[in-house]
Amino acid sequence: MSKSYFMPTRVIMGNNCVVENSKMFSTYGKNAMIVTGKSSAKINGAEADVVEVLKAVGINYLIYDQVMSNPTVSCVFEGADYGRDNAVDFIIAIGGGSPLDAAKAMALIIGSNLSEDNLFSGNYTEALPLIAIPTTAGTGSEVTQYSIITNDVLETKIGIKTHLIFPKVALLDAKYMMSLSVVNTVNTTIDALSHAVEGMISIKASGISDSLATRSIRMIMGCVPTMMEVLEEEDSTLFTLEMREKFLYASTLAGMVIAQTGTTAVHAMGYALTYNKQIDHGRANGLLIGEFLRFTEKGEPKLVARVLEAMDIRRVDVYIDMMRKLFGELEPISNEEIRTFSAKAILAGNISNCPVIPTVADLEAIFMASFGVK
Ligand SMILES: [Zn+2]
Repeated sequence: MSKSYFMPTRVIMGNNCVVENSKMFSTYGKNAMIVTGKSSAKINGAEADVVEVLKAVGINYLIYDQVMSNPTVSCVFEGADYGRDNAVDFIIAIGGGSPLDAAKAMALIIGSNLSEDNLFSGNYTEALPLIAIPTTAGTGSEVTQYSIITNDVLETKIGIKTHLIFPKVALLDAKYMMSLSVVNTVNTTIDALSHAVEGMISIKASGISDSLATRSIRMIMGCVPTMMEVLEEEDSTLFTLEMREKFLYASTLAGMVIAQTGTTAVHAMGYALTYNKQIDHGRANGLLIGEFLRFTEKGEPKLVARVLEAMDIRRVDVYIDMMRKLFGELEPISNEEIRTFSAKAILAGNISNCPVIPTVADLEAIFMASFGVK
């Protein structure tokens, strides 16, 4: 099977990188739309920095700050209509995965002149240029061609995938993450870990993606003891700027990985937990990876051994123990729920990325073992 690597996003990182790269914004036009959530970009200072830059270089801007977590189809069309009516040339997305994914969909809707009927058609011609400024370290959306949107009519999440929505530029400054809560920080970082691990396991993995994944896994696993300490002592100051820079770097590397490899059964199963049980996305994945590795190990022991080596541990059990300690008490899940979630997850496209294809019964067994259900 031939492999390829394609990641056209320019990545700029470092303290104050938004302000220091003000001239770069002018290359994308005279009229910008800032897309963000209701409050976090205001609290963490990212929005103020972007506004300062746009004013300094003479770019007109408008702000769409109504992106909710798990953005819906109506939200992305509301934002796109606002941008289209004001003839914006490019979009600046600030926030976690939700604002970034919503902004990508808006860029595509405006660029390809899409209606609600053909948003998920795959029939795309163009997208407005997008600059991504992540303010959480987890999704890696700043370097991927994916946008996950909640279809509120069908009551499900649907992924848009097209190279047109790779951001043109990703600006990574960990100072915008200093106000992120401890639990959010842990959950989003473990989401990044699951991207790197699943990327190594995926049948689409290559030497290049494995190099990025290994580095990302090492960086995150090296920070797990501090995460435990922070949770125990409830002292978020232990998450220093340097440590948050590591999280951000690791999550961007993991994003570059899944841009090539996609995710696996872990994300397919995790979505069911998030959608139906409101279990945080990163937490759900973190709790499922261990048993998924154990399942994969039976058919692909060498592959799993490579993942464990990157984690600097010898056995899958050690990882499972770590996550149990990190995540505390598990949510109760019934056998009936497990049957429903497994039946749904088996239909997901990312199941085909698994080197050992699970059956529905395998998914049920992974759910049960992960949540201690008998
Ligand atoms: Zn994820």
